[in-house]
Amino acid sequence: MSRKPIIVGNWKMNKLNSEALEFMQGIEAHLTGEEKADYGIAAPFTCVETCVKNAKHLIVATQNCNEKDSGAYTGEVSVPMLEEIGVTYCIIGHSERRTYYNETNEACALKCKRLFASNITPILCIGETEAEYDAGETANVIKTQLKGSLEGLDASEVSRLVIAYEPIWAIGTGKSADQTIAEDCCKLVRDTVKDLYDEDTASKVRVQYGGSVKPNNIAEYMACEDIDGALIGGASLKVDSFIEIIDATK
Ligand code: PGA
Repeated sequence: MSRKPIIVGNWKMNKLNSEALEFMQGIEAHLTGEEKADYGIAAPFTCVETCVKNAKHLIVATQNCNEKDSGAYTGEVSVPMLEEIGVTYCIIGHSERRTYYNETNEACALKCKRLFASNITPILCIGETEAEYDAGETANVIKTQLKGSLEGLDASEVSRLVIAYEPIWAIGTGKSADQTIAEDCCKLVRDTVKDLYDEDTASKVRVQYGGSVKPNNIAEYMACEDIDGALIGGASLKVDSFIEIIDATK
């Protein structure tokens, strides 16, 4: 089964529209559409439209959505709103949202289900804290988060899903997981999907590694059998560094 790698920059709460435009123009000038991986960025809501309008080859994702279609949910953005504007991927359950905004596995499952109904691909994030890692709890955390966050999704949906394994101790710390840990955990993600669904679904789901991925280490991760791409924070903010990432992986 050959899975197309997918590399997505997560801008988090960064970039004004003028900066997003500069980034899109800089990267699009570099892409031909012939690359063997998909490349994209997850933008803050305020510059999604700028990104979509200026995207030729880049995927445009958001960093969250609400599972309800409309109503009295102050501050939230629904999936039909993303669909209308041309968003095709959406990060769900990033550790910053799980930690600061109480995003639960149950909420992740509902959001993923709603996204699939609109043909927007969720990028579901999971990963353990440093304390859980030190306590040898990584495998349990991965399995529990996956089981809860995939609740109600069927095999045809999960086979189209992107799952980002991001150890929280590696996010924004410069302390990336070594190649063996990253591969073992991404393999465990795939094996867990196989246990929850079937072999075919597990062979199709794309699994990213995330956590201090940089131009100088991305090739190591991409060489791993069960790693199909990366979710990249800090190193996705500058045109030069994103171009280096593209060049290291195309
Ligand atoms: P980082 O962030 O690359 O800055 O560690 C990764 C992420 O939060 O997805």
